[in-house]
Amino acid sequence: MRVVILGGGITGLFVSYYLRKDGHDVTLIDKKTETSSTSIHNAGFLTPSFAPSPPLSIMKVASAIFRPSGALYISLREVAKNPGWFLRAVRTGIGSHERDVVDMGKRSLALYGRFFRDEGAEDIDLQRGVIGLYRDEAEARTVAEEVGGDFLRGAEVDALGFRDLRGGVYFRDELSINPPKLVSFLRSSLEHMGVRMRSSKEAELKGDKGRVERAVFDGLPIEGDAFVVAAGSKSAEVLRPLGYRPRLLPARGLVMIFESDAPRVVGRPALLEDYGIAVVQHNPRTVRVTGFFEMKGFDAGFGERRKRWLREATMKHVGGFERLRLAEVGVGYRPCTPDQLPLVGRVPAMSNCFVAAGTCRLGMTLAPVAGHLISSLIGDEHETNEGLAKLLDPARLK
Ligand SMILES: Cc1cc2nc3c(=O)[nH]c(=O)nc-3n(C[C@H](O)[C@H](O)[C@H](O)COP(=O)(O)OP(=O)(O)OC[C@H]3O[C@@H](n4cnc5c(N)ncnc54)[C@H](O)[C@@H]3O)c2cc1C
Repeated sequence: MRVVILGGGITGLFVSYYLRKDGHDVTLIDKKTETSSTSIHNAGFLTPSFAPSPPLSIMKVASAIFRPSGALYISLREVAKNPGWFLRAVRTGIGSHERDVVDMGKRSLALYGRFFRDEGAEDIDLQRGVIGLYRDEAEARTVAEEVGGDFLRGAEVDALGFRDLRGGVYFRDELSINPPKLVSFLRSSLEHMGVRMRSSKEAELKGDKGRVERAVFDGLPIEGDAFVVAAGSKSAEVLRPLGYRPRLLPARGLVMIFESDAPRVVGRPALLEDYGIAVVQHNPRTVRVTGFFEMKGFDAGFGERRKRWLREATMKHVGGFERLRLAEVGVGYRPCTPDQLPLVGRVPAMSNCFVAAGTCRLGMTLAPVAGHLISSLIGDEHETNEGLAKLLDPARLK
């Protein structure tokens, strides 16, 4: 079958990978070059155990609508423009699908294992073992008991180069990778497998009577038997002309890349849970810090005050951080649904069009499971995991 995929972030790359492995003729289109998507600008943790949201009181969420509350900010304008999204989010409740997302993440991690074994994993700065760190020892103990990692005492956390933290939870089988390196490794694997790549121009879909007829890229038609929209937060925009408006909103985050002279400043990839800050040293030269969950549309302008907050909070807890030099800053947009479940499956009322989007905070982790599901839906449907397909069915969010 000829399949055309719109969007070459991590989701579109894994959709292409599994479709090509299943023998389809695949064309992958991205509107930008390989260095510009959210799939480059993230922490690169492949960590199902970080699916549960940090405990958030209604008061904290409500106050984040008026001014940034730590890492969280929701602009009043975004709420006014998208009341349906926020009402649905309130009705669903934070955390109601956590267990499902953790299970999906674990399945994805197994698929990553197979992917690394089959294709190799050279030069992607793969590290095994990620920790969640806490200022409160009791909180770390509770998470270790409930989620299942190894509890670390304050002294063990200090020995890894962190300071002023009282406890940690070590997930020994969860992974960290360098996002731009994984994306470029996947792109070159796909090229070798014979996937056609088109980039640097936006594509759109043309359809009629419940079918997509073609994609249009750079003024030229690209014919296909099936089409997949994997355009991250922009998926709603791409799907709107087909009469489907999925509830997807962007939640932006900031990435800072630092250069290091010291061989090891950050002892282990870690999430500073009290701040929602991820910090990882990919190799002797590169340290990545990410933070913020801000819902204010597609606005790449982070002010100096917010950047300072991120640096100062990290400096407080990472020994030797002050010696690092800031080399690069980037912004990513998490594609978020109000019920915190991705949208993966057939587009309502369309026979040959599919969507794979809405992976929000965990898109790097969940991309293989999303790609695998799309490939089974397009190809051999009796291979499909029906429970998962039903859970992620896009028709639930019309
Ligand atoms: C600060 C931050 C930290 C994060 N940390 C983690 C983490 O540690 N672990 C984790 O699992 N997840 C993490 N995430 C989430 C993760 O980055 C995203 O969920 C994931 O990258 C989404 O991937 P995607 O391919 O669905 O979307 P994107 O990466 O946004 O890719 C969509 C692609 O579609 C293209 N596109 C858009 N419109 C069109 C069009 N009309 N035609 C053609 N192409 C188009 C875009 O150019 C883009 O390349 C983080 C996110 C942020 C912001």
